[in-house]
Amino acid sequence: MMLENLPVDYRDFLDRIKAEIRLARFKVSLAANSALLQIYWQIGCWILSQQNRSEWGAKVIDKLSHDLRKEFPDMQGLSSRNLKYMRQFAAIYPDPEFVQATLAQIPPLLTFRHFSLCLNKIEAKDLFVKTKYMKITLSLIISFLLAAAQTFGMPDGEKKSKALPRIAIAGLGIESSTFSPARTEEPAFKAKYGEQIFTSYPFMAADSSLRKRAEWLPALVGKSLPGGMVTRAAYESLVKQTLDLLKKNGPYDGLYFDIHGAMSVEGLDDPEGDLITRIREVIGKKVLISTCMDLHGNVSWRLAQHTDLITCYRMAPHEDAMQSKRRAVVNLLSRLESGKGKPAYKAWIPVPILLPGEKTSTRIEPGKSLYAKVAPASVQPGVIDAAMWVGYAWADEPRNHAVVMVTGDDKAKVTESAEMLAKSFWNVRREFAFVAPTDDLKGALNKALASDKHPFFISDSGDNPTAGGAGDVTWTITEILKRPEFKAENGPSLIYASIPGPELVEAAVKAGVGGKIDAHAGAKVDARFAPPVHLVGTVEAIYQGDVNAETEVVVKVGSVRVIVTKKRKPYHKEADFTRLGLNPRKSDIVVVKIGYLEPELYNMRADWILSLTPGGVDQDLERLPYKRIKRPMFPLDKDMKEPDLKAKMVPSSDTM
Ligand SMILES: [Zn+2]
Repeated sequence: MMLENLPVDYRDFLDRIKAEIRLARFKVSLAANSALLQIYWQIGCWILSQQNRSEWGAKVIDKLSHDLRKEFPDMQGLSSRNLKYMRQFAAIYPDPEFVQATLAQIPPLLTFRHFSLCLNKIEAKDLFVKTKYMKITLSLIISFLLAAAQTFGMPDGEKKSKALPRIAIAGLGIESSTFSPARTEEPAFKAKYGEQIFTSYPFMAADSSLRKRAEWLPALVGKSLPGGMVTRAAYESLVKQTLDLLKKNGPYDGLYFDIHGAMSVEGLDDPEGDLITRIREVIGKKVLISTCMDLHGNVSWRLAQHTDLITCYRMAPHEDAMQSKRRAVVNLLSRLESGKGKPAYKAWIPVPILLPGEKTSTRIEPGKSLYAKVAPASVQPGVIDAAMWVGYAWADEPRNHAVVMVTGDDKAKVTESAEMLAKSFWNVRREFAFVAPTDDLKGALNKALASDKHPFFISDSGDNPTAGGAGDVTWTITEILKRPEFKAENGPSLIYASIPGPELVEAAVKAGVGGKIDAHAGAKVDARFAPPVHLVGTVEAIYQGDVNAETEVVVKVGSVRVIVTKKRKPYHKEADFTRLGLNPRKSDIVVVKIGYLEPELYNMRADWILSLTPGGVDQDLERLPYKRIKRPMFPLDKDMKEPDLKAKMVPSSDTM
């Protein structure tokens, strides 16, 4: 269910239920509290007696902590620091009877964490001196500890900001084709800074429960429409701003890393891997990083190493984008709150498959059943999250291929789940097909003209701006205007969306609605397939103020209505057409620079063909001049051998 469709009071209702569940769970945990304090005290005694007898230094305690946490991954309080507190605890209260009696009386609201916080704040020897000489100070100690508990935070309710984890937010997102001559500059990222960043995440609204669970320190998040490679200057500028802001607000306990994963930058391989490495240099190895990505992103070994938690969308089209981002944030919070921190295991499996998004929609098979396996794999005990990336087909780097990753504390579960998903992907590789019938442009136009189903949609897919095409390839509109069927004013009606042409738009605005126009448009960025298209016709509409296009005009040439924009714009909604006075439902043919039809267009279509036209995101991958992707790769290399789909364990980010 999409967030927009939820009842208005749903969020409050959910928050209320969540609060009740949390309270119930807390009550259960209280009962265990006294028993836990006893075992902590006992461990402290054992460590003390061990240290009195042999050479037990800090290193042994570190080792003990590591081994205990491995054995009890779901248990809190076994860090080296806590083991030292246990030792201190036992040193202050050496008398077992006294401890028994005390623990029985300590109000159950008190946790060991509060106790350790107290020890941290006061000189332990002062406490020791007092208790040694005045056993009656017990009630004083209890009130002191209680006061401390209130100061440092209660486990369930209103926490003071001091006890909340400090979490930064940063990331850059774009999918950019290396097969397009287009370039993306810094303004395209529409960078948001600080508090402004929360506007991108409805689940972190000011009154949301998530917002209250951490001290948030958002730095910079930039998201661009897909496009050509990002210029090196734009990337370096955005990275520098991000790092400066992260330096200013540190230190951190966590970082939510919000990226797409298919960014290409001039002269730089694996930009997301580069970005996270440079972020680590600023925030350190200890900080817990949780990454959320588009399933069309790429996961290099380097990115897998530096992130701790990682997930991606499970639906294409990406109706679950917000749900996935929320999951990444919730995973981060619960690992910080529980003290479990970094996952013990991260399995990474590269799957040598490279497919276009137009073949891997999760609305149809085999994508539907394949992706349906991800969520059940992710909710097993011992598993934190499971994710499967299709990868990005229009960049030529060794990291471009499918990947599976599973994170968690149970080695066997993590390994098995990752291998099951990778194997499942490989097994269905031959079943992926385009989401619609395909044809070259000539064939698509012939079918549309002969059909009695209208509107007949044709995807001009090779230059799809929402996949990374330049959006100004004129080849398709040039070919359409050559066809004799559309020469007469009263020929079959065809809407073409769209072509950028700022000079033509300026001339059309001057001529006004009803005026004549004779000008060129397109092929400024990508002129490899056709020169600028010559449009001689009548201006039918002018619309100002679109956030992407700025100005849009409709020029009628023969029976074709061409939308020309000042800047590149995707046409995904019915209103994009109707506000220009166009009625796509009444048009015989609608040609859009797009891949799979977005929902509103899909619902309007009487029939649809995906035309395999040329451009920066050519859907016919076998026509692309790959030089650097890993080989062999399905489906480019026929008869390739069975790949190694064994899980590779990625080292923890703090061991690098
Ligand atoms: Zn995507």
